Amino acid sequence: MNHVNDSKIALVTGANKGIGLAIAQGLGAAGFTVAVGARDDVKREKAVARLQEAGADAYGVALDVTSADSAAAAAAEIERRSGRLDVLVNNAGISGPTAGGVQDPTTLDLDVVRAVLDTNVFGVVRVTNAMLPLLGRARSPRIVNVSSNMGSLTLRTGPVMAAYAPSKTMLNSITVQYARRFADTDIIVNACCPGYVATDFTGFAGSRTPEQGAAIAIRLATLPDDGPRGGFFDDEGVVPW
Ligand code: NAP
Repeated sequence: MNHVNDSKIALVTGANKGIGLAIAQGLGAAGFTVAVGARDDVKREKAVARLQEAGADAYGVALDVTSADSAAAAAAEIERRSGRLDVLVNNAGISGPTAGGVQDPTTLDLDVVRAVLDTNVFGVVRVTNAMLPLLGRARSPRIVNVSSNMGSLTLRTGPVMAAYAPSKTMLNSITVQYARRFADTDIIVNACCPGYVATDFTGFAGSRTPEQGAAIAIRLATLPDDGPRGGFFDDEGVVPW
């Protein structure tokens, strides 16, 4: 019997600020015990304190998504504290540096591409695979990958971002491969787009609040067992690939 806690457990990566913190807040308010995944000790503990002050059951988990060791240690910590994981929200992400607000493909620094993929794509695979044994102990496991409509090959939205946009396209593709792999299991995985949100990421230029950006991730994290699988959604519904 591994269920040492009766409430559902959710891990949110990059939960110390922005959309991740709002997802953690929303899941906490919905009754989840929230494991606050963040790489910086001080920022993580501040976020945990904020969530607890708001009434959420929250604890911090050291997690740098670019490190397999860190992902393994985070899984061990969640196992120790909670015994299982019901929801994983892969939210941590970076844009990588821009020049004049763009990433020009004709002058692209491939080290930037590698760094962006390492966080936005490989980080999701690392953390997901580290958490799978814990997700396998949950009754209705859900995985939500926070993507972007900038990764949509159909919409081609936003500025030219030759590292960031393809990283989200690949994240969408990886999401579909996980969904296919989990087709005969209880694990439901989807990708979401939060919209254009006022966070550090956008220099607070986004028109939406972090709470608005978090809403679709929370919805996908709490899907019923017959919910959609392997899709890409925002508040309006399906986002074209
Ligand atoms: P943000 O305010 O910059 O927050 C990003 C979070 O990711 C921070 O907590 C950051 O931690 C964390 N992070 C980055 N690298 C990490 C790593 N290696 N290990 C662990 N955590 C790491 O950005 P945001 O706007 O909330 O973005 C959250 C997600 O939404 C991202 O995946 C982004 O691509 C996506 N998104 C955002 C928008 C938007 O308009 N804001 C639109 C579409 C999609 P530190 O504080 O330690 O850096």
